[in-house]
Amino acid sequence: MPKVYNFGAGPAKMPEEVYEIIRNEFTNFEGSGISLLETSHRSSTYLKLNKEVQDVVRRLLNVPQNYKILFLAGGGQGQFAAVPLNLISRTGTADYVVTGAWSAKAAKEAKKYGKVNLVIPPTDRYVNIPDQSQWNLDPNASYVHICTNETIHGVEYDFIPDTKGVPLVADMSSNFMSKKVDVSKFGVIYGGAQKNIGTSGVALVIVREDLLNQTLPICPSILDWTINAKNDSILNTPPMFAIYIMGRVLQWIERQGGLDVMAELATKKSSLIYNIIEESNGFYCAPVAKNVRSKMNIPFRIGSIEGNDALEKEFLKGAEALGLIQLKGHRDVGGIRASTYNAVTLEEVQALANYMKDFYKKHSK
Ligand SMILES: *Cc1c(COP(=O)(O)O)cnc(C)c1O
Repeated sequence: MPKVYNFGAGPAKMPEEVYEIIRNEFTNFEGSGISLLETSHRSSTYLKLNKEVQDVVRRLLNVPQNYKILFLAGGGQGQFAAVPLNLISRTGTADYVVTGAWSAKAAKEAKKYGKVNLVIPPTDRYVNIPDQSQWNLDPNASYVHICTNETIHGVEYDFIPDTKGVPLVADMSSNFMSKKVDVSKFGVIYGGAQKNIGTSGVALVIVREDLLNQTLPICPSILDWTINAKNDSILNTPPMFAIYIMGRVLQWIERQGGLDVMAELATKKSSLIYNIIEESNGFYCAPVAKNVRSKMNIPFRIGSIEGNDALEKEFLKGAEALGLIQLKGHRDVGGIRASTYNAVTLEEVQALANYMKDFYKKHSK
């Protein structure tokens, strides 16, 4: 089979080396003679793995000791409910900064459990993040929720908001472990694993200890951070295989040199694509404001900012013929989207860049 270049937004490309490791460990996990798939979640084998994965998260992100690291079922969206269920009881109200489809969804879910204040005016064209001086923060909010990287719209924070002491909660599903983050500036960080750090079904949740013990009584136990922290993420049978894969991906990141190396690569990879867009005299159009352009998900249109269906179809067809796949933009946005997560190599992005150049040349004559 010819080489396939996977630019999918999620579930997304995994590091090839990790597949090799998973293949080798699949039927005989750590010399136990059985697969992890048939190992008890209460066994010493799993307890060791549970600790190992927590440890690598703590090392990579330099997570301070007063933060718990949890592995919870239900993916990213499970946490859209868990966040208000665990945090909104203090004042009954929460601030949501809606900068794209995912934070909009999170805000909608939170409305089931309390009052939601929209910090910036609603829009259906997510192309920037208003300056903090224009934010309408409620000093009485139980927390402020942001999505640090909007996977669909390609809007990524280039700053950490100052919330004046109100706990900051961040959905990092699509840029988790793509760069260093000062965890101490956040109350809670969470994300589904299937974009940058593994496979679907598990959410990685990092929560400051003083934010526990205020869960709403209606909160299902499996979404309750306090109960899950007490049980070391083994309240029920956790998504063990997804947690294992996340661990192997994170260990791979560590072997590559850690988050600074990932960040440098992300800048290089995304610049390759954005530069071609900039130098195409308006043939390729990136809608997002330059300072908040995502280094993980690059949405763009062809022909004009509204796009040109025929040209975009031709672009995708030509790309697929070369093995460049999963480039179709999200149905809410249209056009093209290239995702350049940790596991996507510079060489692979270069192949896409070359194709974009050729396609431009062909059509600008
Ligand atoms: C994919 C994604 C989610 C949803 O994750 P699921 O695991 O599918 O629930 C939430 N937030 C962001 C930013 C995402 O990219």
